Amino acid sequence: MISYQDALRQISAVCQPLESSPTPLDELLGRAPVEDVRSKMNVPSFANSAMDGFAMSAAVTARAGSDTPVEIPVTGVVAAGQEPPEGIKGQAVEIMTGAPIPAGYDTVIPVERIEAKRDSDGTATLISCTEPVPPNQHVREASQDFRLGQKIFTHGHLLEPHHIMGLAATGTDVVETHRKPKVALITTGSELAMSGVPSGGGLIRDANSPYLSSFLTATNTDLVRTDFVTDDPNELHTAIKACSDNTDIILTTGGVSAGRFDLVPDAIKTLGGETLFHKVAMRPGKPLLFARLDKDTLFFGLPGNPIAVAVGLRFFVLPALRHLQGLVAEQFLPTTCAEPVSSKPGMTFFGKARTEPDENGCLRTRLLPGQESFKINSLMQANCWAIVPEGTADVAAGECIEIAPLYPNEFLR
Ligand code: AMP
Ligand code: MG
Repeated sequence: MISYQDALRQISAVCQPLESSPTPLDELLGRAPVEDVRSKMNVPSFANSAMDGFAMSAAVTARAGSDTPVEIPVTGVVAAGQEPPEGIKGQAVEIMTGAPIPAGYDTVIPVERIEAKRDSDGTATLISCTEPVPPNQHVREASQDFRLGQKIFTHGHLLEPHHIMGLAATGTDVVETHRKPKVALITTGSELAMSGVPSGGGLIRDANSPYLSSFLTATNTDLVRTDFVTDDPNELHTAIKACSDNTDIILTTGGVSAGRFDLVPDAIKTLGGETLFHKVAMRPGKPLLFARLDKDTLFFGLPGNPIAVAVGLRFFVLPALRHLQGLVAEQFLPTTCAEPVSSKPGMTFFGKARTEPDENGCLRTRLLPGQESFKINSLMQANCWAIVPEGTADVAAGECIEIAPLYPNEFLR
């Protein structure tokens, strides 16, 4: 039996980032760039107006006052997307938000802040300034947001919609990213009734495969195949063989522990796979198995109990998927323990937990009742996992306890 940390080291030793290819902007969500991304331009790329109003030289308004208004002829208009006219000294140009500031002008008065004389068609002809206008007012200078060549995204992190906004704005159309990992799922158990099939008579409803397939689909993986097998060695062999073609990771659930019908460990042997570890010093989910089936296919044998499946996926399969996607390791969040937690010494404990702000707004974590690995109801109430490392037996109230959100890159709900 190995420790969780050693198991993670083994996973990282055999998981290499997948090949990469140029990926267009509209396919970047959930991908990780192979290299840092730099701004392809200055943004804004030209000085432009932050308001609808009038652009002019601030100097012209220096002597303006309520008793000594300065009248300025308006000799042009520029909308966003247009080339501006030359800024002639002593005159003004009507300007729209986002339009380039005419050369020679340096400030903008918002249309709401000044009286303008207009022709019958609405064209402004004259404005009257009753106070000096400071230079650079409502002007967005070139490169105020991004500079050409500036690093804007670090490789090894997932691109999310707000990053894609920045990439689009700075002229990036294509980014080299690792491809999505291909995952196949085999659910084992003669007792399982699939969705739509009545349970009873010793049958139970399959909870694991709907959980895994929905989780994986939301986690930037290609779920390439899903199979169901009874506890029959031939069926299991055939399914694993069929899945190993063109798949990066095969997941099984059930049949990995020490019972007579726990057929997964033997199946790996028979198929010539190399078991890298079987049984991890943790609770729940101890019987987890990790193997290399061939040089391109890794194998996780997850236990059958649904919470053991959730822990295996969250804390073993996801780190492996992150390596394949070229992502850096996930950092967990330190919070304050709300109520004492005791954990078996020598075992890492992954507890179904809730983290919520206390009356001072500090995040406090408490374990939920019902930690047994067959209890799904408490997982439904959870908003995170609390992690007690193997070297820690008890965490007292007020001490630090680390948590992982249920889904990576998510804040608590
Ligand atoms: P096993 O490791 O196959 O002995 O399964 C351990 C426990 O998990 C047993 O109580 C199984 O009935 C249960 N179990 C196995 N697979 C599933 C599944 N897909 N959905 C719900 N429970 C399962
Ligand atoms: Mg079973």
